[in-house]
Amino acid sequence: MPDLAGSVAERQAHLEAIASEVESCRLCPLHLTRRRGVPGSGPASAILMAVGEAPGEREDQDGLPFVGAAGQLLTELLAGIGLGRQDIFITNVLKSRPPGNRDPLPEEVLACAGYLDRQIAAIDPKVILVLGRHALQRLVPDAPWISRCHGQLMQVSERTYMPCYHPAAALYNGSLKAVLVEDFQRLRRHLDQLDPPRSDPAADTSPAAPPRAEQLGLF
Ligand code: SF4
Repeated sequence: MPDLAGSVAERQAHLEAIASEVESCRLCPLHLTRRRGVPGSGPASAILMAVGEAPGEREDQDGLPFVGAAGQLLTELLAGIGLGRQDIFITNVLKSRPPGNRDPLPEEVLACAGYLDRQIAAIDPKVILVLGRHALQRLVPDAPWISRCHGQLMQVSERTYMPCYHPAAALYNGSLKAVLVEDFQRLRRHLDQLDPPRSDPAADTSPAAPPRAEQLGLF
């Protein structure tokens, strides 16, 4: 069950403690090559989390997630559905940059898993936006290829996920931007349907979710 104990202020303090741990983390060899750990940013009260793959060069330099070209597109996509970056919590599977932006190694994902798990538990978001195949493999390991499930809500245990292509993919393949725009519109419609709102968690009477990934097919 999610760790819902405590006020928003207490959960924000928990996120800040995780961030501090990330900044001094040496659990995998990426600490040897990174400049800064990139724990993530956003409010503990966010109803939406976005989880990408790993920091890139700009993120490694600034210590903030999604601040490079892909981050600019993410900001644009969020603005298109009436959200600002300050409304959501943005992070990655890996909190340190792999050299040359190579793919994450399984042992790195495993070493870093606790940070993301604890962030999700602290925030308890209504929806987790899963950006790209590496994040999908980490969060919904039995999901189909992202080309087959993007834009669809998926439920695993008590969590609701929406896989999308990583914004970086649209920088290389322009046709994917229209797909992302459409998927973000679906996300907007789902957020609009949420009832009760996040501010009243005690009134959430949602039925128990199945244990395996299930495409909800709401759209
Ligand atoms: S990637 Fe994760 S586990 Fe590896 S050093 Fe960075 S914070 Fe630690």
